[in-house]
Amino acid sequence: MPHDPHIRLFIPGPVDVRPGILNAQAVPMIGHRSPEYANLQGRIIPKLRRVFGTAGRVFIVTSSGTGLQEAAVRNCVGHHCLSLVNGAFGQRWYEVTLANAKPADDLQIPWGTAIQPEQLDDRLRTGNYDTVTVVFNETSTGLLNPIPEMAEVVCRYPNVLLLVDAVSAAGGTEIRADEWRLDVCLTSSQKALGLPPGLALCSVSDQAIQRAHAVPSRGWYFDFLQYDKYAAKNHTPATPAISLMVALDAQLDAIEDEGWNVRFTRHRRLMRQVHDWVTDSGFGFFADAGYRSPTVTAVENTRNIDLGGLNAYLRQRGMLISNGYGPLKDKTFRIAHMGDTTEEDISVLLETIDSYLAGQ
Ligand code: PLP
Repeated sequence: MPHDPHIRLFIPGPVDVRPGILNAQAVPMIGHRSPEYANLQGRIIPKLRRVFGTAGRVFIVTSSGTGLQEAAVRNCVGHHCLSLVNGAFGQRWYEVTLANAKPADDLQIPWGTAIQPEQLDDRLRTGNYDTVTVVFNETSTGLLNPIPEMAEVVCRYPNVLLLVDAVSAAGGTEIRADEWRLDVCLTSSQKALGLPPGLALCSVSDQAIQRAHAVPSRGWYFDFLQYDKYAAKNHTPATPAISLMVALDAQLDAIEDEGWNVRFTRHRRLMRQVHDWVTDSGFGFFADAGYRSPTVTAVENTRNIDLGGLNAYLRQRGMLISNGYGPLKDKTFRIAHMGDTTEEDISVLLETIDSYLAGQ
């Protein structure tokens, strides 16, 4: 039974999924070692390469994005990782790295402030690190880190691998994994790609695969070398989430029809629509100017409104936004403008928030 009534999600994941994509999954099951399955994976891979801007390896993994955070450090950290942290998901990746018994140091930057390439360079100059982890789009703070500039710094250190979490970026803003020389770039399905949760996707460079050969105890489920071996036959090592892959195949076709650049431009247009409303309504922005995310805006609750009351009001009218993440709860609220959201959807949301504020 569908959820009734439908609550349209403006939370930064999971996002609303179009009925056509939900329905695409409702097809008979196929065996994961069958030719039909190999055709499905074979159809998806070239389209997935465009998500990451790579001509190389891409893997489809049955897990959420955190699984690939774990995979990336398990496969790629040799002796010491530098974890860049300016939000909750950078912090999580640092903790995931330590939890996998990988030596790691954190470089903590105030939340809402972008990590600057010079700060990264200062730490890499010590020669202590063979891997860097960084989040492209910090969903907790609505901030886009300057990944191309940071990647340029990492390129000066040939033995250092750059692992990028693009969970709330991929599908919403351009990624050029080959040009920027990202070693692992990972995402999950339930954000800007506009799919249900359950799939994690990544690009993996030759250097990352070489490193994996030298790293012991990579585990089994997330072993990139296993993925690489099975990918040659358009298979995965274990049973994949076939229904979600059918949805992914259909959604990537729909995105190609929309046009990648048209999609990225739409995301920025929605961002501006939300930004204009934030300014006109007398709220503030949590993230620094110049680094604000095209997929999610963290609004500073400068008017000290009751966010629980606002979301209850929105829910009654069939929509939902997010409170601030962790320590930012009640100090900020987040409006996602990613996936297949339209200007009209955002207009209806903002008008409904206005009608709540008018009644206060
Ligand atoms: N990284 C970022 C930037 C995120 O926004 C999230 C989830 O919101 C995650 C990682 C964790 O992803 P998942 O919930 O798919 O495990």
